[in-house]
Amino acid sequence: MDCSDVRDRVASYVLGALPELTRTEFERHIEECGSEHEVSALGEVVEFLSRLAPDREPPVRVRTQILAAADADISGRRFAA
Ligand SMILES: [Zn+2]
Repeated sequence: MDCSDVRDRVASYVLGALPELTRTEFERHIEECGSEHEVSALGEVVEFLSRLAPDREPPVRVRTQILAAADADISGRRFAA
């Protein structure tokens, strides 16, 4: 997994949506890579959402919107590059 793979998966990772094997590879890259991968920033968003509804997972609708926004962001960057 390289930096662009990690960038594509940050939102899924912080939402716990990655398969076990992919998550392991993701975490290994984060440990070994010197680059910022926005994991902590997105993690804070998820933590904030979970505090709004402490007894529940973030609603599916919110989760879907975050993933869609992340996808749009990634696509925008990819087309701009
Ligand atoms: Zn990296």
